[in-house]
Amino acid sequence: MKNIAVIGSGTMGNGIAHVFAQNGYNVALVDISEKALEKAIATITKNLDRQLAKERISEDDKSNTLANITTYTDTAEGVKDADLVVEAATENKELKFKIFKNLDELAPANAILASNTSSISITELAAQTGRPEKVIGMHFMNPVPVMKLVEIINGYSTSKEVTKTIDQLSKDIGKVPAMANDYPGFIANRILMPMINEAIWTLHEGVGGVEEIDTVMKLGMAHPMGPLQLADFIGLDVCYAILNVLYDGFGNPKYAPCPLLVNMVNAGKKGVKSGEGFYSWGHGTKDLIVSDSFK
Ligand code: NAD
Repeated sequence: MKNIAVIGSGTMGNGIAHVFAQNGYNVALVDISEKALEKAIATITKNLDRQLAKERISEDDKSNTLANITTYTDTAEGVKDADLVVEAATENKELKFKIFKNLDELAPANAILASNTSSISITELAAQTGRPEKVIGMHFMNPVPVMKLVEIINGYSTSKEVTKTIDQLSKDIGKVPAMANDYPGFIANRILMPMINEAIWTLHEGVGGVEEIDTVMKLGMAHPMGPLQLADFIGLDVCYAILNVLYDGFGNPKYAPCPLLVNMVNAGKKGVKSGEGFYSWGHGTKDLIVSDSFK
């Protein structure tokens, strides 16, 4: 493993590129948008500067990391020498199907194709290719340079050899892998999203207010942030979409999104990204101010 191609240079793609490049891999960072690529390099530079200021890396580490990254808008060019492709494009099933079909044609025959998807079936992505045994999930957490976990998802056809390679690679880039099999939500979202949904039901039914619910989970369960604040950070539209994947995938009403969540998404209250969710975010993300709707 030497050459890693990362498809999509948004929130997750720039972090994934950063981590591989910092660990000495050649990274081809691919996006359809030149602007997104420019923004990704600016973000990686800013994050390296932060690591430098904290004396976690040296000036040389910073310049070597940046030198290891090349950007491309042409996927064929970006993946032509890849040993591993990590797809981190927009979470849209049809789009990812198309990308995987394309990657199968463009990447070397022995390349492993991984997806960072939060909720799309790895088995279905693998079925778009002629190499389903070489398709696997590498689910990084946000922010990638900081969060240690990589959830590795084995599709139905993923070979043991590919799983072993990706397990070792995850360790080599300083991450802690956790293996999961390919069922809706994998491990992380299977457990997290019902907890968030239950917190929203608890609010909806008037059992507790926004602050009370988050305080109980922070101080009572030692969670670093409460489930409503976390939902605002993840994006309420993303939570809604993942709950629907669980609901459809298992056909079990326990995963049905709370009507309050549905209403908020329909009203455009998506959390931090829209400026309002359970909290108001117009002033930035430092101080917690409960949204007027819940006062
Ligand atoms: P994002 O919207 O920030 O970035 C997606 C990028 O993909 C954009 O820059 C877009 O231009 C690019 N793109 C779209 N189509 C493309 C194509 N055909 N080829 C190349 N690039 C293309 O999204 P994100 O939040 O970084 O999410 C990316 C993936 O990571 C999704 O599958 C998501 O489910 C998963 N994920 C996200 C988080 C998170 O906290 N944001 C956490 C874990 C996993």
